[in-house]
Amino acid sequence: MKPALVLVGRPNVGKSTLFNRLTRSRDALVADIPGLTRDRHYGHGKLGDKPYLVVDTGGFEPVVKSGILHAMAKQTLLAVDEGDVILFVVDGRQGLSPQDKIVAEQLRKRTDKILLVVNKTEGMRLSIMTAEFHELGLGEPCAVSAIHGDNIGELIDLALTDF
Ligand code: GDP
Ligand code: MG
Repeated sequence: MKPALVLVGRPNVGKSTLFNRLTRSRDALVADIPGLTRDRHYGHGKLGDKPYLVVDTGGFEPVVKSGILHAMAKQTLLAVDEGDVILFVVDGRQGLSPQDKIVAEQLRKRTDKILLVVNKTEGMRLSIMTAEFHELGLGEPCAVSAIHGDNIGELIDLALTDF
């Protein structure tokens, strides 16, 4: 069985862009409209001879209890439960948000296989970008730029360590 890497994070942090990087496809819908990718979306990738599955999820709005945002959260939680490694994506440019803390809390309740990914770090000092995210208590963050493709190989390596 291929390990499933599940992309989770609040809208607009770059999950779909990262999905495209990890699967080398343009399949996931990337848009400037937050939360556009509403359905779970699957793709395949390979690092050396290690194949893996990537699951893109649409947003994560645990505070909202009704409507489409609630539906997204449910879909996301299903994907988390079925996943082997959760790539929890945060926005290095925006910095740590209260929503990130809520998502981190929800994830931690369900799994301990969480890899914290700080995205949008191109052209930034990595130590400064990642410092505040240590507060989430999810270990050493992995800094990437999904748009530029920076550090993507290292991210996959880390994610597949146990496989
Ligand atoms: P999602 O809602 O989490 O799936 O986020 P998207 O992948 O749709 O990206 C949201 C916005 O962030 C888009 O405008 C992307 O072009 C932008 N974005 C994604 N990755 C990066 C990155 O590494 N650096 C920068 N500067 N912008 C990014
Ligand atoms: Mg998306």
